[in-house]
Amino acid sequence: MKHVFSFIAVLAAVPAIAEENRQLDAHEHGVGALNIAIDGSTVAMEFHAPGADIVGFEYAAKSDADIAAIDAAIARLKAPLDLFMMADAAACSVTEARAELESEESHDEHDEDHKDDHAEEGHDDHDGHDDHAEDAGHTEFHAEYTLDCENPAALTQITFAYFEAFPNAKEVEVQIITTSGAQAFEVERDAPVLDLGR
Ligand SMILES: [Zn+2]
Repeated sequence: MKHVFSFIAVLAAVPAIAEENRQLDAHEHGVGALNIAIDGSTVAMEFHAPGADIVGFEYAAKSDADIAAIDAAIARLKAPLDLFMMADAAACSVTEARAELESEESHDEHDEDHKDDHAEEGHDDHDGHDDHAEDAGHTEFHAEYTLDCENPAALTQITFAYFEAFPNAKEVEVQIITTSGAQAFEVERDAPVLDLGR
């Protein structure tokens, strides 16, 4: 009976695992997403981009070079005004910046079920994670920023130096929310200046 029970438990977990995989599978390599909310002098931004765009790989970091590439990318992503350049006249400064690498296993709450299957093979937790991530494939960088802009009326353009920093990035889908509504844009490498028309 114990065997039957665990089989049912694994089946029950499948839809949730499939759904999580769909989320990261849904990202398109070369395409990032930037959401910007402007409220008075406060500008809140959220950024997502595939690992392929930022470091050129999405497997779990193995070599020192991989780890160094991820650390360097996170450091660059923590400097939003160097990537998404606002007009000097807006006098923006960064009040908060966070960046991290998200991989599938870090969101997989059902990982414990898999570990039970492999327990006899003597893998420790660390090796198990590496193997899983290699098979799974997709990672994303995620960043959140808060800016304070002394003169928000001067926020008329954003220059995406992001494309120079990350050669694999091709496009960013931008959504801007202000008190007057929401607007969507696509900013491409060929034309990296977003005119906010305000
Ligand atoms: Zn991917």
